[in-house]
Amino acid sequence: MEKRNDYAHLRLPEPVVPALQTLVLLKGQTALVTGASSGIGRAIAVALGRAGANVVVNYSSKAGEAEAVADEIRGSGQRALAVKADVADEAQVQAMFAAAVREFGTVDILVSNAGIEKNAPFHEMTTAQWDRVLNVNLRGAFLCAREAVREFLRRGVRPEVSVAAGKIIFISSVHEVIPWAGHVNYAASKGGMMLLMKSLAQEVAEQRIRVNSIAPGAIRTPINTAAWETPQAHAELMKLVPYKRIGEAEEIGRAAVWLASDFTDYVVGTTLTIDGGMTLYPGFEAGG
Ligand code: NAD
Repeated sequence: MEKRNDYAHLRLPEPVVPALQTLVLLKGQTALVTGASSGIGRAIAVALGRAGANVVVNYSSKAGEAEAVADEIRGSGQRALAVKADVADEAQVQAMFAAAVREFGTVDILVSNAGIEKNAPFHEMTTAQWDRVLNVNLRGAFLCAREAVREFLRRGVRPEVSVAAGKIIFISSVHEVIPWAGHVNYAASKGGMMLLMKSLAQEVAEQRIRVNSIAPGAIRTPINTAAWETPQAHAELMKLVPYKRIGEAEEIGRAAVWLASDFTDYVVGTTLTIDGGMTLYPGFEAGG
């Protein structure tokens, strides 16, 4: 049977998208998003702002881009603060949370999104490449989540804004479950993140802290430009995506709003995979 691939242009229609974005689900709450000056983090920060949250826009080097994200959030009527911090650095993470609490009184939502790739064939991978990816992707997630949990426990539930004391969303990857040759450090960091998420979710659920992950598949951002910018690369990528289109960062932003809101209050310790079917063993599309 001939494969259909002529729906790749289809997106949510324009009248629907703004309507979804104006659902004010997070009013009165403060979100901290790491790595929010570009890509998925940027889209999540903007979406949380549109949903009524004040947003701390963390960045590591691009101050101008982070300020632009903060301005966009202010433009949608919320408060925003751009804060520079390397998520792998304990003192900088603690200073960032202190700045957030000083500015907004508390933090209700952490989206731990900052992540990097430093790819190499395994026998050529340097210790520096291994350490940096693990330090940003996994140690960074630990350090930020620890500060968030400390703040949630200090403050407790504020029923007027949410029935949970706090929400943590880790931005993982389909590579928390799909092995990835040539990217062993990255896959190890995301696999580690999966059990960080589940173990933490189990530990703090009784304190009404909800911990979950979003695992994106192929999303059009600066991290993976090489995978989609030429027609050949795009065609190769589509072999891995049953839904036959690349994902957009805004689609992850909308999911983060939903997962941070009380709509999902009974969702605890789950990975929400958003991948156009990439984890469905696409090699078996034609029956194997
Ligand atoms: P991106 O490169 O645009 O975003 C990564 C962000 O993290 C950048 O803003 C970068 O400045 C920031 N960052 C890097 N090191 C940091 C540090 N030490 N401290 C603070 N911030 C730091 O790429 P993206 O695709 O938006 O990636 C965001 C997250 O999504 C990553 O965790 C990535 O692993 C994950 N992800 C992306 C895809 C995809 O297809 N784009 C798929 C699966 C998972």
